[in-house]
Amino acid sequence: MSGKKNLEIKKEWCKGCGICVAFCPKQVLALDSNEKIDIVNRDACISCGQCELRCPDFAIFLTGGNE
Ligand code: SF4
Ligand code: SF4
Repeated sequence: MSGKKNLEIKKEWCKGCGICVAFCPKQVLALDSNEKIDIVNRDACISCGQCELRCPDFAIFLTGGNE
């Protein structure tokens, strides 16, 4: 089973590298004015996990859903 998961961010862990923004296929993510990750289009997230996989600082991750 696959289900939509909850996307969570830890701004304080984000170093603003932009990797997750670049890899997200749905333009869900952007850097805010402080160069910290921000969720700008949560509804478009397909829970693909690319952001979680690519973030070097564990600042973005998926929780919940049907495993
Ligand atoms: S899980 Fe996929 S679609 Fe959702 S924010 Fe991360 S990279 Fe984008
Ligand atoms: S990949 Fe991680 S550290 Fe880099 S911008 Fe995204 S959340 Fe921040």
